[in-house]
Amino acid sequence: MREGKISVQTENIFPIIKQFLYSDQEIFLRELVSNAVDATQKLKTLSSKGEYQGELGDLKVEIQVDKEAKTLSIKDYGIGLSVEEAEKYLNQVAFSSAQEFIEKYQADNAIIGHFGLGFYSAFMVADKVVVESLSRNGGPAVRWTCDGNPEYTIEEIEKDDRGTIVTLHISDDATEYLEDAKISELLEKYCKFLPVPIEYGTEEIPVEGEDDKTESQPRTINNPEPLWKKSPADLTDEDYKSFYQELYPYSQPPLFWIHLNIDYPFNLTGVLYFPKLVNNIELQKNKIHLYSNQVFVTDEVKEIVPEFLTLLHGVIDSPDIPLNVSRSYLQADSNVKKISSYISKKVSEKLKSLFKEDRPAYEEKWSQVGTLVKYGMITDDKFYDRATDYLIFKNTEDEHFTIEEYRDKVKEHQTNKHDKKVVIYTPDAAAHHSYITSVRDKGYDVIISDSPLDNHLYQQLETKESDFLFVRVDSATPDQLIDKDEKAESVLSEKEEKKIKSIFEKGLDSYKDKLQLQALSPTDHPVIITKPEFMRRMQEMQAMQGMDMGMNQMEFFDIIVNTNHPLIAQKMTKMRGAEKKQDFAKYLFDLARLNQKMLTGNDLTEFIQRSLQFMEE
Ligand code: ADP
Repeated sequence: MREGKISVQTENIFPIIKQFLYSDQEIFLRELVSNAVDATQKLKTLSSKGEYQGELGDLKVEIQVDKEAKTLSIKDYGIGLSVEEAEKYLNQVAFSSAQEFIEKYQADNAIIGHFGLGFYSAFMVADKVVVESLSRNGGPAVRWTCDGNPEYTIEEIEKDDRGTIVTLHISDDATEYLEDAKISELLEKYCKFLPVPIEYGTEEIPVEGEDDKTESQPRTINNPEPLWKKSPADLTDEDYKSFYQELYPYSQPPLFWIHLNIDYPFNLTGVLYFPKLVNNIELQKNKIHLYSNQVFVTDEVKEIVPEFLTLLHGVIDSPDIPLNVSRSYLQADSNVKKISSYISKKVSEKLKSLFKEDRPAYEEKWSQVGTLVKYGMITDDKFYDRATDYLIFKNTEDEHFTIEEYRDKVKEHQTNKHDKKVVIYTPDAAAHHSYITSVRDKGYDVIISDSPLDNHLYQQLETKESDFLFVRVDSATPDQLIDKDEKAESVLSEKEEKKIKSIFEKGLDSYKDKLQLQALSPTDHPVIITKPEFMRRMQEMQAMQGMDMGMNQMEFFDIIVNTNHPLIAQKMTKMRGAEKKQDFAKYLFDLARLNQKMLTGNDLTEFIQRSLQFMEE
C-alpha cells in the first residue's frame, strides 16, 4: 500500500465542497453515473476503432445501496483505471477540475447546470470514497481510498471484472441518499436518457409461457435511445406524441413539433413541441429540458433560447453549451447566440411551412399558435420580420387574413384622414355585441383580439407597419373610429343643444366632466360610453406587466350624447318637468353603462326598479 497527499493547497477543499455546494448536493450522483457512462462509451469507441480487442460483454452501469453498510456504489464495465491512471486521473485531473470549479463557484453563485465538479462531488455526501478498478489493459487492479482529507491510499487488489466500482461511505448527515425513493428520484431526474443502460433495484417480470409466475430482474431505469437521437425518417407521429407523454405525463397532446439536428457550426439535437397553450402562459413557460450528451443538466433554458420560445416544450441536447459558467457569461457566449438564433429560425420555418402547406389547418390552430407567434413578434425583431408572413387576423365573421390581406381589405372603407388603415378590434364579441353591430352596419370590419398579448402586438404593428392604427370597437363612436373628417349636421339649434346639455349635466351630476354632445347618425345610440384607446391600452399593458402607476384605479371614459337621436332631439325636448327630463337622461346613461358592463351595485338595482316602474306607467 502506498500513501499520498493530493496536492499542496488542498487543506481546505473538502470543507468547501461540503459547504458551498450544499444546495446542489444531489448532483454527485449525476456526476458519478456520467463518469461511469463515459468510461463505458470510451470502451465502445476503442473497440470500434480496433484498439480494444477483448469482449465488450454486457455494457451497463449498476447502482446499489447497502443500507446496513451505509454505502452507495456505482459500478461500470468501462475502460477502467490502471494503478498509474488512478493516481493521475483521480488525484490530479479530478482534483484540479474540482478546484477550478469551486473557484468559479465562489466567484459567481449563479452557475448554470453545475457541471464540472465531477468525481470530487462524491465528498459532498460521503466521508470516505473507495474506487476499485481493473483496466481494459489488464491487471493489476487498483484500490484508491480517500476519507475526505487530502491524504489517500492506493493499493493493488484482486478484481475479476473489467471496469470501475466507486463506493461512497455515506456520511451521517446525508443518509437520505441511502433511501430507495431518493435514489430513484435522482436517477429519474438526471439519468433518464443516458446512453448506457442504468440498472437500479429489481422488478418482477412475467415468466414466458407460465401464466402466473414472475421472476425478479434488475430494473433498467433509463431509455438509452431517446427519440431525439433517432432519425426523423424512422419516427411516426405516434412516437413523437408518446415521447411527449414520457416527458410531461398527463399533458394534452402537443400541436406539432420540430426535430432539431445540426452538427455544424455547433452540435445540437432535440425535439421542440408546440404545446396547447392555455391563457396563463406563465404557467407553461420554462419547460424545456437541457441535456448534454443525454445527461440532464437543467430546465432553466432562458439564456439559451429566445424568451418567447420558452413557451415551447421538449428537449435540447448540446455538448456545445458551456455548462459551468455564469448566466451573464452564457448570454454573451457566441455559441449560445448562434444556437438561440438557429432555434428561432427553425421555429419560424416550421410555422411558415404549416401555413403554406395547409392553411385551413393552420388557421384552426391559430388560437394556440398565435400566442407564440405574437410573443415572438413582440420580443424578437428578427422573428417579427419572418412572422409577418403568417400572422393571422381573424374577424367576427370567422374569416382569416394575413397582414397584407387585411391591409387590402380595409384599404377602401377604413382609411382615416391621416391615411392610416384603421383596424377595429374587440377582445369580447359577446360583451361588445351592440358596438360591433353599430360599426358593422356602417360597413366596417371588426377583428377578434383573443390574446392577452394583443395590446403589445398592436403597439408593435403600429410602429413597424406604420400605416396601421388599432382601435377597440368601444373606444369611440363608429364615425370617430375611422375619423374621416365628415361630420353629420345637428338637427338641433344651438339653443336647444344648450338645454340638452344642461339636462344631462344635472341628471348625471357627478359625471359632468365626461359629457360631450355630438351630432351622430339617428341610428347610433342616444348615449354612448367610449373608452379612449390610448389610456385604456396603457392601463391594460401596465396591469399585465404587474406595474401599477396609479392609473389602474382611474376609469377613463367619455359619455357621448347623440343629439340627433330621436329620443333626444324629439322626445326629450318635448318633455315637461325638469325632474322628469333629468330622470330620462339618467336612464339613457344607465342603458349605455349597461351596454359597457359598467352598471353594478346600487346603480343597477335602481335601474331595474325604474325600468319596472316605467312598465307600470
Ligand atoms: P471529468 O470527468 O470532468 O474529467 P472527473 O473529476 O469527473 O472529471 O473525473 C476525473 C477523471 O477520473 C476522469 O477524466 C476519468 O479519467 C477518471 N474517471 C472517473 N470516473 C471513472 C470511471 N468510472 N472509470 C474510468 N475512469 C474514471
